[in-house]
Parts: sequence; structure tokens; C-alpha cells
Amino acid sequence: MSTLRTLEALERERLVTPDARLEAAAQSMAIAITSDMVALIDRGDLAHDPIARQFVPSAEETVISADELADPIGDEARSPVKGIVHRYPDRLLLKPLHACPVYCRFCFRREKVGPGGEALSDAEIEAALDYIRSHSEIWEVILTGGDPLMLAPRRMAKLIAGIDAIGHVAVIRIHSRVPIVEPGRLTDEMVAAVRPKRAALWFAVHCNHPRELGAAARAALARLADAGIPLMGQTVLLKGINDDVETLDRLMRDLVTARVKPYYLHHPDLVRGTGHFRVSIRQGRALVKALRGRLSGLAQPTYVLDVPGGHGKVPIGPSYLGDDPDALTVEDAFGAAHRYPG
Ligand SMILES: *Cc1c(COP(=O)(O)O)cnc(C)c1O
Ligand code: SF4
Repeated sequence: MSTLRTLEALERERLVTPDARLEAAAQSMAIAITSDMVALIDRGDLAHDPIARQFVPSAEETVISADELADPIGDEARSPVKGIVHRYPDRLLLKPLHACPVYCRFCFRREKVGPGGEALSDAEIEAALDYIRSHSEIWEVILTGGDPLMLAPRRMAKLIAGIDAIGHVAVIRIHSRVPIVEPGRLTDEMVAAVRPKRAALWFAVHCNHPRELGAAARAALARLADAGIPLMGQTVLLKGINDDVETLDRLMRDLVTARVKPYYLHHPDLVRGTGHFRVSIRQGRALVKALRGRLSGLAQPTYVLDVPGGHGKVPIGPSYLGDDPDALTVEDAFGAAHRYPG
């Protein structure tokens, strides 16, 4: 079975039943569910299945609230050249294409991602590289998209070599969902393609639920780790998918045992039509606090919010210090308060 891309294909697989509002949801964002992910769906309880909920369109997507934004993290305002988002002085995003192996219904670039469309041409890639070349303060280049691993290995190798040739770029970071949702793309050729000769490579995988980490995904992550590539995890906190402490505990442990260091737990962005996925910051902080008391430091992600309007990410996790600077108290991970001198 190949990737499911239409409502009809989802109906044939009995993943949806026809509904006019679903048509509208499908029109607002492309559909793609890889066979790897379809195989992990529990059909016994489709409405609550954490895999199905992430990728199968739902009528709830047609509900758009006044707080939601077309460009929730303000990428547009920070794009000096096509494909680049430059928000922080020392690092920038380079988005070679907008295609993904799956389309996550909560995607923070929901209005941008999709098949075809805005892939950069060779000339546009060259213009993006020129921008990086002419900005010597760029220390890190972050490949994202879409999913950069949708590039053919040969194009990926060429892009990595182009960035690697820019002497002031010390770090290349790749953000991808491919090792999880379509691990077969992570061939030896692809692993070789992503490795720069000079710069340090870091690889961030997007994974939201322990059930996503099947045998094939673990094997793909092991290929990267065995190639000496440090792996980090990013997770979006999602209502009805991972907004409970047991699921997050399991996910973070499973990531660490797959040699992936949890990096960020993202508070969901104000994306249009994603209210059914959003938890409150209060709930998020309570979950993160509970994890602190349960998990190894290795397994703790930083809970972050991308401040709407293009202001960047900040940690929004709980604070353990009391407010009074003259009588400093600190709360431990199990809830007890202690005095700290000075
Ligand atoms: C998220 C993001 C980064 C990377 O941020 P880190 O905190 O370094 O992971 C860089 N640029 C933009 C525009 C981003 O949205
Ligand atoms: S893989 Fe990432 S960019 Fe693509 S749809 Fe999912 S969240 Fe969005």
C-alpha cells in the first residue's frame, strides 16, 4: 500500500465516513498518511486513536476561532529571501521544499505545507546560499520545510555540500519527521547524503506519541545514531494525543532509549482550524511539572512557546523559585519548599 492522499482513499480504508465538512477540511490542507502510519492505527477506537487523530482530517478543522492566525509564528515577516526565515542573529531556517511524507492536521505551517508548490529551484537554492555566504554571523543553518528528507538523496547531498562549503557555518541542523513516519526513506544513501564533511550535524526528529516508535522507526533512528549523528526530539503537546503524564513519560523514555535527547515540547501554535488540538498553558505547565518528578534529566524536554507574531521561542515551563528575593525559597521536584540563603 502506498501513501493515502485522498478522502476516497481514506474511505476505502475505512478511516473516514463521508461528510461535507470533511471535504472542506481536506481542501484547507493536503492529506497524506504513509503506509507505515496506517499500519499503526488502532481501528477499534478511531476517534481516539493517537495516530489517526494526527493525520486523518476531521470536521473540527472547519472551526476557526478569532485568535487563530494564517501565519502563527510570523515566518513571512522574517523572510529576506525565498526559502529563508531569519529571526535570530546567529541562525536561520532554510526550507528547500514544502512537501512532507504525512500532513499533520495540527501543523504550525498548515497554510504552507503541501505537495509540489513552493519547492526551491536550483537558482533559488543558490540565492539562499548567497544570503548565508554574505552574512558571516550565521553560525547555524536549520533545514526544515516541509520535510527536508523529501529531497532525493542526490539533491540533499548537493545542498549539504553547498552549506558545508560556507566556512562560517559551524552547525547544520535538520528537522524531520521521516525517520518516524516513513523510515524506509532513510536509506544508507540518505544517511550518507545528510552528513557534512566539515560542519557539525544535529538531527531533530518530530515524534508525538510512543506508538509512533515502531520497529522500523527505531531502526531508522539507530542508523542515524550509529553514523555518529546526535539526535534530538521535538514533540508538540496535543489534546487527546499526548496531554497526559503517562503518555509523555512513556514517549520521553522511549525517545531516550532510541538515543534521541528530548529537546523541545512545543505548546501548540495558534494555527487556524486546530482548536481541537490545543491545551491551555496551565495544563502544559502542570504536565511538565509532573514529568520533573518522574523522569531522568536526560528525558526532560524544555516546554516552549513560539510567541505569536514572529517573536521567537521562549521557555514557559513552571518556575521553582519563590518570588521574594529577600527570603528565597525553592520548590523541589516533589512539591516541598526549601529556604535558600542569599
Ligand atoms: C524555531 C526556530 C529556530 C530555532 O530555534 P532554537 O531555539 O535554536 O531551536 C530558528 N529560527 C526560527 C525562525 C525558528 O522558528
Ligand atoms: S511533518 Fe512537520 S511540516 Fe510536515 S505537516 Fe507535519 S508538522 Fe507540518
